[in-house]
Amino acid sequence: MDTAPAPFPSSRERLAGAVQESATVAEVRVGRNLLEELPAFLRAHGADGSVCLFADGNTWKAAGERAAGILDRAGWQCTPFILPGRPRVSPDRRTGDELRAFLAGREHYLVAVGSGVLNDLAKYAAFQLERPYAVIATAASMDGYTSAGSPLSEDGFKITLPCRPARAVLGDLGILAEAPAEMNGWGFGDLAGKLPAGADWILADGLGVEAVDPIAWALVQEDLPRQLSRPAALATGDPEAVGELFCGLNLVGLAMERHGSSRPASGADHQIAHLWEMEGLSLGGEKVSHGACVSVATVAMLRLYRWWLARDPREAPPTERTTPPASAESEFALLRSLLPHPTIAARAEREFTPKLLSPGQREERLTLLRREGAALQGRVADHLDRIADLPDRLARAGAPIRPDQIGIDGERLRRSARAARFLRSRYTLLDLLAETGQLDRAIDESLGDD
Ligand SMILES: [Zn+2]
Repeated sequence: MDTAPAPFPSSRERLAGAVQESATVAEVRVGRNLLEELPAFLRAHGADGSVCLFADGNTWKAAGERAAGILDRAGWQCTPFILPGRPRVSPDRRTGDELRAFLAGREHYLVAVGSGVLNDLAKYAAFQLERPYAVIATAASMDGYTSAGSPLSEDGFKITLPCRPARAVLGDLGILAEAPAEMNGWGFGDLAGKLPAGADWILADGLGVEAVDPIAWALVQEDLPRQLSRPAALATGDPEAVGELFCGLNLVGLAMERHGSSRPASGADHQIAHLWEMEGLSLGGEKVSHGACVSVATVAMLRLYRWWLARDPREAPPTERTTPPASAESEFALLRSLLPHPTIAARAEREFTPKLLSPGQREERLTLLRREGAALQGRVADHLDRIADLPDRLARAGAPIRPDQIGIDGERLRRSARAARFLRSRYTLLDLLAETGQLDRAIDESLGDD
């Protein structure tokens, strides 16, 4: 059974308030039967009678064809640009450039009909042409509708290109609820990652590494228990449950814009997931989705948090004498052994360098942990306990929670958890564990095969 949703203020009101504050997103309209309003909706956001509907075979069937009919009846000129639905469209820059070239000589207003990849490609093409675009969302599968970055791959590597989010997002609950259940499960997984990501931010805040921004924090965290409260209803396509999730995902994008980085949305869970995505993790001939990767990584991070919370922080941090700090040379050697691909390693070296502590800085951190560790554990525990049964909820939402469900074994999960802290300069639990000489033990004891 799902738990009862929390009372007001609703996610929808919070979303409307956040959109009002946004410099780039003008409207996120969420409700039933919204597709009928498409011509007026597009006109309100700068379109003037001619659009390019960008879809793939699946999203064309789900909403594109109907959208074209509605626009046609309203006297609009509608030019479709439809990619094949199988295999799934891949997020590569070349496809984005094809769309850009198609639009370059035309005046059409770009309207993406889709979710993750199609939205990212449209975002990229629109940004290259310095034009706005709108999106008819077809699944609550990720948080990219309102976020500025477009993660595309170039020569096989995932790079997040700075872009502008959609000017206007149409979230018709009838369309979103009819998305394949697994896709809304991916969105549930992506949003679930905000729980351990919030804990990572609390750690960084408590250790003086990166302060919590209360406004961005509230946008993502305050309604999170409600947005993740109805996994079973989500899995059966309940429009209101899908709507809550959709609002939560869009709030995340707006929180990142507000804060100026992805810190409000992404911690070690996303670092691990990005590693798998960069490695091109596939299952059954299809790339494993972002949300599915985040879901498995989220469960792993929650386990690591439980491990750390069970330790006495006055004893856990070692002394200079018991565990000397890792030298920069040994850290970089470890980085290269865990991330053998030269391009990934070179990027990771740049990201990781600011995390290196001098012996004096490390001693300061350990002293702080001995003094403040118990209070910090209390803050983290209070935060995580807001959704204590998150792995169970993920399973009910149809999101993967075990590594084998996304085609990796326990060994690769543990290796990825060891490698992830090198990928980004962002401070997380993985760094705290490494600095205190506990990372290997924590991983072995909490991420064992069971
Ligand atoms: Zn994400």
